Amino acid sequence: MRAGTSMTADWKELWRPAAVLANREFARGSRWITLRAGDEHPVPYEPGNVLALRLGHAGATMKHAYTVTWADPAARTFSIIYRVIPAGRMTPRLAALGPDAPVEFSGVHHNPIRHEVNPGARQVVGLATGTGVGPLYGYFRYVLEGALERRPLALFVGFREEADIGPRAELDALAAAHPNFTWAPTLSSPGPAWEGLRGRLGESVPPLIERPRETHFHLVGNGAMLVEMEAALAQAGVPEVFISDETYFNWEAEPADDVVARITARFRTDA
Ligand SMILES: Cc1cc2nc3c(=O)[nH]c(=O)nc-3n(C[C@H](O)[C@H](O)[C@H](O)COP(=O)(O)OP(=O)(O)OC[C@H]3O[C@@H](n4cnc5c(N)ncnc54)[C@H](O)[C@@H]3O)c2cc1C
Repeated sequence: MRAGTSMTADWKELWRPAAVLANREFARGSRWITLRAGDEHPVPYEPGNVLALRLGHAGATMKHAYTVTWADPAARTFSIIYRVIPAGRMTPRLAALGPDAPVEFSGVHHNPIRHEVNPGARQVVGLATGTGVGPLYGYFRYVLEGALERRPLALFVGFREEADIGPRAELDALAAAHPNFTWAPTLSSPGPAWEGLRGRLGESVPPLIERPRETHFHLVGNGAMLVEMEAALAQAGVPEVFISDETYFNWEAEPADDVVARITARFRTDA
């Protein structure tokens, strides 16, 4: 076996060293971590690729899957947006890491979102709960800054309260720079002064989508939102090839028929 061949084949299986460059809270309980690879293997990530992070603590190791928000292969860096689960095993420890702290990472899984989005749709809508915003922000930034998309692009993100919204500055800047991109948070428990969208994604977003049957939807986050919304999209006549997704948690969620029927009825399918 040639040495070069075996190295190329193997690096995706390795646990690789990385160091923390930044690890900041950008909204309540949500953090943005940037890591730099500490080896010589490729860092070929794009928004939507999934990798595993591993941390050592008190003689034990813990690992989970995370989705790339942004990466710079030339600088050998990549960023992930994650929720700190207060009683969680790993994320409170991830949140405590300062600059230069060691982390291990492994793998290149899932397609980048831009490979999932159907070129035949007339527009693209991203739907995320909470930290599911990360890879969708990255995808929209990637295709807009690279001039890869001229279709209308919209992102809607479900949060509980105003303090949970983010990354706000980055999304506002992207929308200001690119007229074919809009984004809006929708709050399930807004304060009285909130003037934006109210309710869960399935309540506030469907009436806003023009021609849903000609729209590609990419969904990321809580499995409960994904199964309800995808059942409603199917009932509303959105072709299966115009739906792609990634579940972060709540894998066993089952869609409730009455909830799905109400979401379906809010879509404008007359046009
Ligand atoms: C393919 C894939 C990609 C993922 N990408 C991301 C990502 O980019 N960012 C991210 O924050 N998480 C992501 N997750 C979830 C992540 O792998 C862990 O499950 C999460 O970080 C919990 O870690 P923990 O050890 O602190 O919590 P645990 O002690 O394992 O507790 C897990 C519980 O926390 C809740 N939970 C898990 N993830 C979230 C979340 N994101 N928001 C709200 N509640 C949650 C669930 O109820 C779950 O049962 C992804 C999961 C998968 C399968």
